[in-house]
Amino acid sequence: MKLYEPKTIKAIREQYGFKFSKSLGQNFLTDKNIIDEIIEGAQIEAEDAVLEIGPGIGVLTYEAAQIADKVFAVEIDKTLIPIIEENLKEFDNVEIINEDILKLDVNKIIDETGSKKVKIIGNLPYYITTPIIMKLLEDGVRAESITIMMQKEVADRIKASPGSKAYGAISVAVQYYCTVEKIASVPRSVFVPQPNVDSAVLRLNIRKEKPVELTNQKLFFDCIKAGFGQRRKTLLNSLQTLQGTSKDLIGDSLKAAGVDPTRRAETLSLEEFAQISNEVDKRL
Ligand code: SAM
Repeated sequence: MKLYEPKTIKAIREQYGFKFSKSLGQNFLTDKNIIDEIIEGAQIEAEDAVLEIGPGIGVLTYEAAQIADKVFAVEIDKTLIPIIEENLKEFDNVEIINEDILKLDVNKIIDETGSKKVKIIGNLPYYITTPIIMKLLEDGVRAESITIMMQKEVADRIKASPGSKAYGAISVAVQYYCTVEKIASVPRSVFVPQPNVDSAVLRLNIRKEKPVELTNQKLFFDCIKAGFGQRRKTLLNSLQTLQGTSKDLIGDSLKAAGVDPTRRAETLSLEEFAQISNEVDKRL
């Protein structure tokens, strides 16, 4: 049985009385080439454990289970659990976890796998793509990489460079934790039901060492938020919204960091954000 074929999905819906949930972002993949691109892009090896977010009826899970040592798949929708269990019954290396990924202690699951190398994969629900990525990164997830499908515009923002229109707080935040590689562009036509947007697959390679030295990581993220929160304002003005600062303090910090105070956040590199936040930290 080819799980990804529209006729299989239709038969499953009829057999189980399953209804797609728009609010859970259920758009299922129907294209084997894209499934293969995600699996190959994730660089899964025989000794790896895979953690999949949102397996749906199990199209990616099915392929990952054939390569990896173990697969853990976290699915929030309990009506999908009997379906995915039936579809994957031939494998003894798959565990389905009926939980909300945003509420889960992911590192606890990773530790329980006992695997040295963990790869995260998923065709993410669009409505919570950014919260899922940021939760994994902020929690310091002990995985090598996160290979995920998301709305094209979100992928463009995550991999954007300084000076481009798409560059924003999410670009700097993700690039602080990861290097970003684009794996594939995906048209909306390969999903049922068809979403209103196109998609892209990115691999986020989690850095073993951070790219910049920070004296205060929270302040670094606060600077990013403040800078992009008012992206039309100059840094001298936007950074003054940081608690405990003043115009003079921000002016002195920018000068010490060698950054022109009339610049805007969208022109700053990760390194410049780090220098500014370290200089502000010295003066607080
Ligand atoms: N992997 C399948 C595929 O590619 O065909 C399904 C992808 S679908 C875009 C997203 C899946 O994530 C759905 O099965 C949905 O029920 C599940 N999901 C939505 N929110 C979730 C959450 N907070 N935690 C875990 N799974 C979630």
